[in-house]
Amino acid sequence: HIAELGSDVTDLEVGDRVVLNPGVPCGRCEYCLRGEDSLCIDYKILGEHLPGTYAERVAVAAKNALKIPTDLAFETAAAAPLAFMTAWRMLVTRAAIRPGEDVLILGAGAGIATASIQIAKLAGCTVYVTSSSDEKLQRAKELGADVLVNYKTMPWSKAIWELTGRRGVDVIVDHVGEATFKDSVRTLRKGGRILVPGATTGPMLELDARYLFWRQLSVLGSTMANQREFEEVMKLVFMGRLKPVVDRVFPLDQAREAHEYLTRGEQFGKVVLSIA
Ligand SMILES: [Zn+2]
Repeated sequence: HIAELGSDVTDLEVGDRVVLNPGVPCGRCEYCLRGEDSLCIDYKILGEHLPGTYAERVAVAAKNALKIPTDLAFETAAAAPLAFMTAWRMLVTRAAIRPGEDVLILGAGAGIATASIQIAKLAGCTVYVTSSSDEKLQRAKELGADVLVNYKTMPWSKAIWELTGRRGVDVIVDHVGEATFKDSVRTLRKGGRILVPGATTGPMLELDARYLFWRQLSVLGSTMANQREFEEVMKLVFMGRLKPVVDRVFPLDQAREAHEYLTRGEQFGKVVLSIA
């Protein structure tokens, strides 16, 4: 809820239910002037570079607060911005995915993956996912994934290669990093794009330059989103066409337990702290 407003805020009222864009750009650099918030030379994220929302109150600029529909729970809305903003910019703006393309999303249980599956599906793509857990693959299927690959059963790169008739996929979302990047590169079709929104297993990616030039691949990094992309993707969340996946909700005073739960890696989607 909005608790207090600055004197020049006109489009919000005390008591409004809102969701926050956690990105805080400087508003003055060359990238901000182009509307590219997440390229800002002084880009900050609530909870990473600024005091965040593990708190009962947080102060933000009015434009960071977006009113949510009355039927949308706070816990669901809170699970959306980081994952959906990042996935939206990455797939729609950076990769410019098109209907009919094959999109492979690694690690089906991650927040970025649950968002990417739904966005790629909404764009009319065929969605491939990998996981070591049949249960997570089943959940991914419920979100719209078309082809499920359990990499405990077979090497995923080989499986995808065969499943695509030895063509490879058009686009890969690889947020895993060191452990998977080499195989990702080999699983792309000629002219394919590999998207890197993070690297959870380590940042040093192995890239054979011969694949890069001969197969004319594109490696696209992506981070967060600008204000327009935030509002675009949240509109689809508000319409119910994209559904944030909440794995578990902990009360704020159990933040420690929530982190311990996260380190076990059993979650599918987001773990949310509830501020009653
Ligand atoms: Zn800036």
